[in-house]
Amino acid sequence: MSAVIKDDARNKTLVSLRGLNKHYGDFTAVDNLDLEIQDGEFLTFLGSSGSGKSTTLSMLAGFETPSSGEILVEGQSLVNVPPHKRDIGMVFQRYSLFPHLNVRDNIGFPLAIRKLGASETAKRVDAMLKLVQLEKFAHRKPSQMSGGQQQRVAIARALVYEPRILLMDEPLGALDKKLREDLQDELRQLHRRLGITIVYVTHDQEEAMRLSQRIAIFSHGKIVGLGTGYDLYQNPPNAFVASFLGNSNFLRIQANGNGAGSFEGQPVAIRLTPGLANGQDALIMVRPEKALALTAEQATREPLPGGWNEVSATVGEVLFLGESQTCHVVTQGGTELTVKALSAAGMPMQPGDKVKVRWAVADACIYTEWAESDLSKGAGAH
Ligand code: ADP
Ligand code: MG
Repeated sequence: MSAVIKDDARNKTLVSLRGLNKHYGDFTAVDNLDLEIQDGEFLTFLGSSGSGKSTTLSMLAGFETPSSGEILVEGQSLVNVPPHKRDIGMVFQRYSLFPHLNVRDNIGFPLAIRKLGASETAKRVDAMLKLVQLEKFAHRKPSQMSGGQQQRVAIARALVYEPRILLMDEPLGALDKKLREDLQDELRQLHRRLGITIVYVTHDQEEAMRLSQRIAIFSHGKIVGLGTGYDLYQNPPNAFVASFLGNSNFLRIQANGNGAGSFEGQPVAIRLTPGLANGQDALIMVRPEKALALTAEQATREPLPGGWNEVSATVGEVLFLGESQTCHVVTQGGTELTVKALSAAGMPMQPGDKVKVRWAVADACIYTEWAESDLSKGAGAH
């Protein structure tokens, strides 16, 4: 039943950000951003520090005013609506609980300022205590609770007035790894049960993957990739997203007509790529787990299958990982690649071994435009 409701909800836009900008002096923190947020989805803004995630979220919450652009909820402009009238709850990294109030009064606070009656307040606070499993802690002060418990109070307080949208800015950033993973599971369940729209900010790609239905990847105040974690990983829209999300190999090629190219003077086959001109520089991107290293002996035993490429390389370093080995290899032209080595039984590869690196054309993405800085990890911060 709930799955059916979700399917319906997925196609409905709840929030539209249109041409949204935020300038601080002559610095552009958010750069002409467009985004449609679907009703009921769990959407995460992922990007390195300074990429504009919090600023975008703050404009949605109403704590920052856009320099220009529109924020629409179901077609109605929010820009002049004060934060407390936006039907939006917010949770920050710092718990920001009131230290002098106990858990019950912290959770009830948003209802007190909205002047809700005592019995309705008690009823809603009880429901929230149950939701975040803190019934037994109702009378404790924040200082008598762990970081994870405090953050659950903050979540309950943000949800108690039943907002339609919950915004969370690195809410688990101050917690250690184990607790963070537990709370990620709780958040996913909470989202499923309540069916509300959650917009979540993190710089942690694993967290984004675990939580989200869709991820918006931020760089320099722009969204440079938007989709499910699966799609963004399997088919990154550009070289920046490919290197930001997971590990990637880049091979510089020159196109020789569509479907073919040359890499370090050797012919390689590539996907058909719209707009690829003869002689144009391009990049092949292959994930390490999609590229195989074979010893010379393995390569003679197993002929190259149709639709695959092969280049020669020399093994630099080998990491043995049980079922597979990861190899760092260098091609004849000096390109460094990280590839998966096929384990020849009992014969791990050795540094200096000559290998053939193979990948399927279908597993490789082609990019025709990129900045050199896109190709290194950690790009994207200001
Ligand atoms: P993120 O949340 O992705 O780490 P932010 O949205 O907080 O990034 O910030 C984006 C950029 O805007 C950063 O370079 C930051 O220094 C700048 N910035 C944010 N708030 C202000 C402000 N009040 N005044 C000046 N610059 C700001
Ligand atoms: Mg931030």
